[in-house]
Amino acid sequence: MTITLPELPFKKDALAPHITEQTLEFHYGKHHKTYVEKTNTLIEGTDLEGKDLETIIRKAVNDSSLTGIFNNAAQVWNHSFYWQCMKPGGGGTPSGAIADKINADLGGYEKFTEQLKDTGIAQFGSGWVWLVLKEERLEIMKTGNADTPVAHGLKPLLTIDVWEHAYYLDYQNRRPDYLSTFIQHLINWDFVNSLLK
Ligand code: MN
Repeated sequence: MTITLPELPFKKDALAPHITEQTLEFHYGKHHKTYVEKTNTLIEGTDLEGKDLETIIRKAVNDSSLTGIFNNAAQVWNHSFYWQCMKPGGGGTPSGAIADKINADLGGYEKFTEQLKDTGIAQFGSGWVWLVLKEERLEIMKTGNADTPVAHGLKPLLTIDVWEHAYYLDYQNRRPDYLSTFIQHLINWDFVNSLLK
């Protein structure tokens, strides 16, 4: 098995003006593609060659000799997941199972959006903000650099990439504006609900 770059689930210009085609040309077409290529190069000839991405991530996370493999493989997983977390005309108040669970576990939609945004702002430097299931309860968390909940036995339901490459062309240094826009206009709640089933 070779690690592959998945197709984007929308056209590169479909998220504009919130995320522009130019950002996706770089973010998907250069950054994500490079993580895929580097992962394949690094695992070639090792006992991780032919393994699926999650297996590679879980084997590499606790082995300091495999840091390069972990960083690239985790970034492949995180980006492939991130594209599915957004859609044109998304965002706003969810419905279905996730809406009930946000009310039950996180104190309602307003508190959820506030906590998601604040956690994304609080990540110092590069990283990710996540909605995850931890033992069947929703939690909001952040990870630094390439780190991913997948490596730590948690089930991701939603992520927002807060590396500067995700927003700098469109928002420059305004990470809070990017997070607000993502929450209001881009979250693919259908995808999140599909993961709860
Ligand atoms: Mn990224």
